[in-house]
Amino acid sequence: MATYKYSKLLEHSEHPAFDKIHEPGDPAPASGIYRCPGCGREATCNKRNPLPPQNHHQHEVNQGKIRWQLIVAHQAK
Ligand SMILES: [Zn+2]
Repeated sequence: MATYKYSKLLEHSEHPAFDKIHEPGDPAPASGIYRCPGCGREATCNKRNPLPPQNHHQHEVNQGKIRWQLIVAHQAK
């Protein structure tokens, strides 16, 4: 799970970008940390680069297929 020390350095957001689930290989809609909902594994991706592929890691059958959800977005100033 992504961790941080100083909450004042992160900002809570209700942006719908955090609700979308993306397929492996889709272009990352934002730079940041992504999480696989099936197993909790995380990956850091740069905007417009492909999200990690289906063979990025192995799942048990009950974990479904690999997908990616944005959990922490990088904000360029
Ligand atoms: Zn996974």
